[in-house]
Amino acid sequence: IVQPKTSIILFGATGDLAKRKLYPSIYSLFLSGKLSDNFVVIGAARRPWSDAELRENVKKAIEETHLSNERIDEFCQHFFYLPFDVTNTESYLKLKHKLEELEAKFEIPGNRIYYMAMAPQFFGTIAIQLKKEGVTQSEGWNRLVIEKPFGHDLPSAQKLNNEIREAFSEDQIYRIDHYLGKEMVQNIEVIRFANAIFEPLWNNRHISNIQITSSEVLGVEDRGGYYETSGALRDMVQNHLLQMVLLLSMDPPIRLATNEVRSEKIKVLRAIRPISTDEASDYFIRGQYAAGEISGSEVPGYRQEKNVKEDSTTETFVAGKLLIDNHRWAGVPFYVRTGKRMAVKSTKIVVQFKDLPLNVYTQKSEDMTIHPNLLVIHIQPDEGITLILNGKKVGLLGETIPVDLEFKNNSIDGVNTPEAYERLIYDCMLGDATNFAHWDEVNLSWALIDPISKAWAESNEEIEQYVSGTMGPKSSEQLLSNDGFKWWALK
Ligand code: NAD
Repeated sequence: IVQPKTSIILFGATGDLAKRKLYPSIYSLFLSGKLSDNFVVIGAARRPWSDAELRENVKKAIEETHLSNERIDEFCQHFFYLPFDVTNTESYLKLKHKLEELEAKFEIPGNRIYYMAMAPQFFGTIAIQLKKEGVTQSEGWNRLVIEKPFGHDLPSAQKLNNEIREAFSEDQIYRIDHYLGKEMVQNIEVIRFANAIFEPLWNNRHISNIQITSSEVLGVEDRGGYYETSGALRDMVQNHLLQMVLLLSMDPPIRLATNEVRSEKIKVLRAIRPISTDEASDYFIRGQYAAGEISGSEVPGYRQEKNVKEDSTTETFVAGKLLIDNHRWAGVPFYVRTGKRMAVKSTKIVVQFKDLPLNVYTQKSEDMTIHPNLLVIHIQPDEGITLILNGKKVGLLGETIPVDLEFKNNSIDGVNTPEAYERLIYDCMLGDATNFAHWDEVNLSWALIDPISKAWAESNEEIEQYVSGTMGPKSSEQLLSNDGFKWWALK
């Protein structure tokens, strides 16, 4: 196992992300032997904590996520706290000295990860100040990890990018899209490129459409304030869902190296048909959750949530159709949908294969047609794949029934499946940026999304409501039925 000697500087160390995801992930890396004794974590945030307080909180965070707290005290000895004001020069000088002191003590050769887990408006300032005060002038490598959201439209993303690029080069920047750290998202490449039976079929001659669903049962909880400035299109489609479209549609890279994978993703992203503001409603629809019932209890509508305007038009559901104008995909719609307060919590991809040219069997289904072959890639909560084929119906001649060939990861190595963040932090330590978003991807994806946001911002139409606990508004069904398809509802 490679154990990169690294300092991690965590901006936003007292925050929610640090507590729920980052501390537990760093601990898992520690337990699995991926951190040597030569690592430190410097937590920087506003509160006047001490090292002891940070360590207490790290411990608590780990007790909430891990079954055991093996070697926890030893682990916590690597954590240090620095009260930090992002706009104050003094803070950066203190950070520099602290780093030099700790790197000497822990024998770390100046390798530094700056992890931005703070409100995004500070990302640019921090990056610029780190350079200006000489923090990034260490002997080793310096890398910047940036959380989402990367801007809220193309101009703001460009501005942020220009700011961070003043201090870090593109290959030092690791833009987090935590979906790319998920086991089964990474597995899309394995399914496609390590199996002889799929890739020959992976095109418009054999695939009729691809459906990507990421549904949540939760509402906005206490994040109403943030969500009002974002909405499902910016929060989910621009980044996570588009990334899944790219992994499903890109050409096979010549090698699994960062630049090769990225260039294939960028190539296919450039082939996605742009959607103008005028035609946005033909391709994308939106909805907002109304009151309803979830697991037997009443839940309020979005407009009744805390910090949400009574007449808010923020979308909590999006469904859309993307067309890829290249040889492989011309004519194959990629449907995406995501929403809050839906019937189930699930992220999955359904690849629907084309029907046979001639069907000699009948199936006692509503339309007497044979069930299409489906490849389902389950991302969460279950991880695995299901291939739906047709088998003979027992006892009846000339009739078929769909049969599932199923592979579920969690029955095999569930507890050992690494958290997305664990993988991404380790990748960053190794200098592998394959599962992070390149600026060109961010740039092109905002360019694709902005006209749709604009159409919605300018629209006078009432936003369609859907009852909480359902699979979204009617227009979502319509989007597919217009093309002769339907969303596959699968376990
Ligand atoms: P949070 O509000 O819980 O934490 C913010 C942190 O920033 C705190 O540690 C606070 O002390 C620090 N901070 C704020 N202003 C500061 C200042 N002026 N000087 C110094 N420190 C300051 O936020 P969060 O939920 O942890 O989110 C952090 C980032 O991660 C955001 O960009 C968010 O979009 C992103 N993110 C969060 C989640 C999540 O699950 N919480 C998921 C994905 C992405």
